[in-house]
Amino acid sequence: MPPIFDKPTVEKYDFVLIGGGSGGSGCSRRAAMYGKKVAVVEMSGILGGTCVNVGCVPKKIMWHAADLQEKIDHHTQGYKFKSDGRIPKFDWAAFKPQRDAYIRKLNGIYASNFEKEGVENHHGFARLTSAKSIEVTRPDGQKYTLHTDHICVATGGHPIIPSDEEIPGASLGIDSDGFFALEEQPKRVAVVGAGYIAVELAGVFNGLGSETHLIIRGETVLRSFDPAVQQALTPWMEHTGVHLHKSSKVVRVAGEKGKTLTVTTDKGESIEVDVLLWAIGRKAFTANMGLEEVGVKLDAKGDIIVDEYQNTSVPGITAIGDVQGKALLTPVAIAAGRRLSNRLFGPPEFKNDKLSYDDIPTVVFSHPPIGTVGLTETQAREQYGDSVKIYKTSFRSLYFSMIEEEHKEPSMFKLVCVGPEERVVGVHILGAGSDEMMQGFAVAVKMKARKKDLDDTVAIHPTSAEELVTLR
Ligand code: FAD
Ligand code: NDP
Repeated sequence: MPPIFDKPTVEKYDFVLIGGGSGGSGCSRRAAMYGKKVAVVEMSGILGGTCVNVGCVPKKIMWHAADLQEKIDHHTQGYKFKSDGRIPKFDWAAFKPQRDAYIRKLNGIYASNFEKEGVENHHGFARLTSAKSIEVTRPDGQKYTLHTDHICVATGGHPIIPSDEEIPGASLGIDSDGFFALEEQPKRVAVVGAGYIAVELAGVFNGLGSETHLIIRGETVLRSFDPAVQQALTPWMEHTGVHLHKSSKVVRVAGEKGKTLTVTTDKGESIEVDVLLWAIGRKAFTANMGLEEVGVKLDAKGDIIVDEYQNTSVPGITAIGDVQGKALLTPVAIAAGRRLSNRLFGPPEFKNDKLSYDDIPTVVFSHPPIGTVGLTETQAREQYGDSVKIYKTSFRSLYFSMIEEEHKEPSMFKLVCVGPEERVVGVHILGAGSDEMMQGFAVAVKMKARKKDLDDTVAIHPTSAEELVTLR
């Protein structure tokens, strides 16, 4: 078993990180690679953070399960798969322990990597007592202090739920962490929110056959995405059976956790469900950590304010990942962390290394998935005015040619180009395979590809991706 440290092993560390999630792991391992003495303090006792334990990884596994169920339910007939009458149905209760075991395996891999690379894994709650010292409170209540000239805060965040004062009965609901703790598949569920998590988890429930209600404040989901994405996904979610309650707010929740809940909206609707899931955003872990006491400035939301080099307002204290409130994505936390260690401890050519937060690609694991990079049309028009040119197509991929009309998923591909050279500043795609398609097109955008460069690229046939290099 890789060791867990419960006291300092040196008088002074080169680097101490708070948080053993995506950012803390990427950053600490890179520093250790440069031969530095590094400690990570993690309060949960397990490594990997949100992504591994209650985020990207178990979520993507559940997305695959829902995707498979949809294919079994709606696509196999079209391809003339013979059935003996028994349609395989997902068994949540049997699947969850298997999913959990995989996550435990990943936790072990993270711990082994720390051991291999010489990063000390300290189990406890970290609090700054000065700009150069961190007090660790162990699970048994004992305290000790780690000293260092370089502290990195990589504490991530947690889901938010409205208080019972704001919405009576709100605490009867669960959040995305609670989703991963569900032992059984709820028959009826209401999800509140319109962002990544609400869309993804409502998609999982719906795909797996739960009666799914999605309660959104606006008229569409994913309101910060390109309008074409919102307009393609929102009606399709409804078409596939998600009960969308638009322009609605929850005003009251009644019932008993684990039993039937009645969710009442400001439109006077009463929705009976087994589970209510809040997915209305996250809050940074910055409370009770001594941050403000030592001079680290937070913004109004509670996120740590950093400059482009991840420096906080206190010299020697940096922050990476979700806690700094920009681009809450695992690869962003890792990339920022690795570059930070390059800058602090790497060779001279890295002395100005930093992550560019422009053109970060991202995927929403909806059904079908969405890929996006760069500016939305709205953002491009604000920035470039009339020099924006849009190329867009909507189609059904060849895969669906064999499938009955009502189950043919839409595809929508859109390029946002600017200037006479038609530089591609945004790519927004929705449709089967978009999740895997996006990475390569993100490279093109990062390299400042023009529409002409896409046109000059020979298409791969027959694929959906070829539509992006043949747009007229
Ligand atoms: P975290 O991974 O949250 O790690 C922070 C760690 O700090 C935690 O382990 C916490 O216990 C610890 N900590 C906090 N305070 C203290 C303290 N005082 N002392 C000691 N330890 C402390 N991103 C993607 O790129 N793709 C996805 O598909 C995706 N899906 C997601 C799905 C869900 C449901 C959620 C919630 C998030 C998803 N994300 C996804 C976002 C991604 O998980 C985060 O952006 C990423 O985990 C952030 O990494 P981090 O290192 O900043 O924080
Ligand atoms: P988001 O910020 O993405 O979405 C939350 C949404 O909830 C808001 O956009 C808002 O939409 C709605 N909302 C906010 N407050 C309320 C309220 N009081 N009542 C009802 N609705 C409300 O947060 P998430 O929690 O979904 O995800 C957090 C972050 O985690 C994401 O931004 C993303 O960076 C990351 N993530 C990434 C994933 C991926 O890469 N695939 C997957 C999951 C998470 P509106 O204004 O339209 O009402």
